[in-house]
Amino acid sequence: MDVDDSNIRSMSPSSSTPTEQFDVILVGAGIMSMTLGAVLSELEPHWSIGVFESLDRAGRESSDAWNNAGTGHAALCELNYTPQDASGRISPAKAIGINEQFQVSRQLWSHWVEEGVLGAPRTFITGLPHMSFVRGDAHVDYLRRRYENLARQPVFSAMRHTEDPCTIDRWAPLLMRGRASDETVAATRVEDGTDVDFGAMTRQLAAHLDGARASFRHRRRVTAMEQDSSGCWSLRAVNTATGEQTPMSAKYVFVGAGGGTLKLLQSAGLPQVRGYAGFPVGGQFLRTTDPETVQEHHAKVYGLPRPGAPPMSVPHLDTRVVDGERAVLFGPYASFSPRFLAQGRRTDLIASLRRDNILPLLHVAQDRRDLVRFLVKEVAASRRSRADQLFDYVPAADPERWELLTAGQRVQVIKPGPAVDGKPGRGQVKLFGTELVVSRDRTVAGLLGASPGASTAPEIVLRTLSEVFPEKRAAWEPRLVEMIPSYGRALNEDPRLLEELAEATSRRLDLG
Ligand SMILES: Cc1cc2nc3c(=O)[nH]c(=O)nc-3n(C[C@H](O)[C@H](O)[C@H](O)COP(=O)(O)OP(=O)(O)OC[C@H]3O[C@@H](n4cnc5c(N)ncnc54)[C@H](O)[C@@H]3O)c2cc1C
Repeated sequence: MDVDDSNIRSMSPSSSTPTEQFDVILVGAGIMSMTLGAVLSELEPHWSIGVFESLDRAGRESSDAWNNAGTGHAALCELNYTPQDASGRISPAKAIGINEQFQVSRQLWSHWVEEGVLGAPRTFITGLPHMSFVRGDAHVDYLRRRYENLARQPVFSAMRHTEDPCTIDRWAPLLMRGRASDETVAATRVEDGTDVDFGAMTRQLAAHLDGARASFRHRRRVTAMEQDSSGCWSLRAVNTATGEQTPMSAKYVFVGAGGGTLKLLQSAGLPQVRGYAGFPVGGQFLRTTDPETVQEHHAKVYGLPRPGAPPMSVPHLDTRVVDGERAVLFGPYASFSPRFLAQGRRTDLIASLRRDNILPLLHVAQDRRDLVRFLVKEVAASRRSRADQLFDYVPAADPERWELLTAGQRVQVIKPGPAVDGKPGRGQVKLFGTELVVSRDRTVAGLLGASPGASTAPEIVLRTLSEVFPEKRAAWEPRLVEMIPSYGRALNEDPRLLEELAEATSRRLDLG
C-alpha cells in the first residue's frame, strides 16, 4: 500500500541518508522525460542522469497505451488545427507546424530503431490511414475548402477528398452502414498516418536508459525542490512503499511529471508559474474488440467538436493496436475527478490552490461558461447519450459490444492573462499545445500542457534542450543532424527532402 506522503512532508530525511548527486534529474518517467533522457544520453554520454518516478515502472500515467488515444498527431485528420475565422478563412499554419513536428518524431524514432534503442517498430507503431469525416452542408463545405487549402501544401499533398458516400463506404465501412442515404457527408484521407503505443515506447526508452545511462529510482515521489546558494537543486523524494525519504541534488532538473508538474514548479517557487492553476479533465473511451467490427475498420477518423466542446473532446473512431491486439475505440467523453494524475489523490485540486491562482480559476469559470456547461453535461451523460454519440459515427453499432474505458487525466492549464491598466488580466485556459516553463537561470524546465502531447515529444525535447543549454547548441548540432536529418529545417518548404525522409522513415518504421 502507498504511503500518504502528505503527512510526512515535514519530516526531514535522516542525516545518515547520503544525498544522491546527479548532473540532471528527471522527475517522472513518462514519454517526455524518457525522450529527453534518451536524447541527452546521446549528446552528453558522460553526464549522470537520475530518474525519480513515483510508480513502479515507466509510462503508466498519461503515456500508457489505453490512457491516451495513440494518435500520431500529424494534423492529417484533426480539424481543430484548421479552424476558420469569422470571415470563413482557413489558415494552414498550425496544421503545417504540427505536421513538421511529427516529421521530427518519425526521424528520431527511425534513428532509435536503427540504433537498437527502440525495438521492432510493430511493438510501438502501426501505419494507419488518417481520415476526417463531417456531415451536413455547412461542414461539408468547410471540409472541401480546408482540403483545397491544405492539399496545396507539400506536407499534405497526399490528402484525398470525397463527397461520394460509396467512396467513404470503401474507406471506412463502419461510418456508412445504417446511415440514411440522403445524409450529406464528406471525408478526407491520408494513407500515411499512424497509431502509436506511447506506453510501450516509453518503457523501451526506459529499458535502454536504465543502468549504464541513467539511475532509475521507482516508487519515489518527489515532494519538494529547493535551490541552494550555489545554484544546485535539492530535491526530496519519498519512497511510496516505506515512507523513507531520499535526498538528492542536481545542477539541472527536468520536471516531466505530467499532471504533477505544476505542483512541483510551484514548490520550487518559480515566478513564471505564479498565478497558474490547473483544472483536471478526465477522459473516457468506448472500446470494442468485437472481431467483425475490428475487421471492418482500419483508420483513425476525426470529426468536428460538438458545440461548446474543447479541442481535446473532438470525437474520433480509431483502430488501435496494442500488444499486437487490434481494437476499435470511440470517444473521448470528458469525465471529472479532482485528481491531477490517474493514480493521483482526491486532494490534488484543492492542494493546487494558492492565493494567486484562485482568481484566474474563477475567471475561467465565469468567462468560459460554454466549457463549464459542456463538462457538466458530459459528466452527467448517461449510457444512452454516450451511445447516441457513437451512432453519429457508427450508425449500426451494437452498444452491448462496446465497453467504457477510463483513460488518463489531463490537467488543463489556466494562466493569468496579460495585465490591463496595471491590474492582473483575467485567467485564460490553455487548450492547445505544450507549454515549456524554464527558470530564469535555466536550471529547471517543466512541461505543462495539452494536445498534441506525446506525438511531438521529440520536438518539445529539442526546444527544451535549446532553451536550457543555449551554449551547447553549436556543439550538439552535428549529432542532432545525424539523429534528425531535417534538424533546423522547415520540411514544408523543402519538398525534395520531405519526400526523401517520408520514404526513409516509412521504410524504417515499417509503416507499409
Ligand atoms: C484522454 C487522453 C487522450 C490523449 N490522446 C493522445 C493522442 O492520441 N496522441 C498524443 O500524442 N497524445 C495524446 N494525449 C496526450 C499524451 O498522453 C500526453 O501528452 C503525454 O503522455 C504526456 O507525457 P508526460 O511524460 O508528460 O506525462 P505522463 O505520461 O503522465 O508521465 C508523468 C510521469 O510522472 C510521474 N510523476 C508525477 N508526479 C511525480 C512526482 N511528484 N514524483 C515522481 N514522479 C512523478 C507519473 O507517475 C508519470 O509516470 C492524450 C491524453 C489523454 C489524457
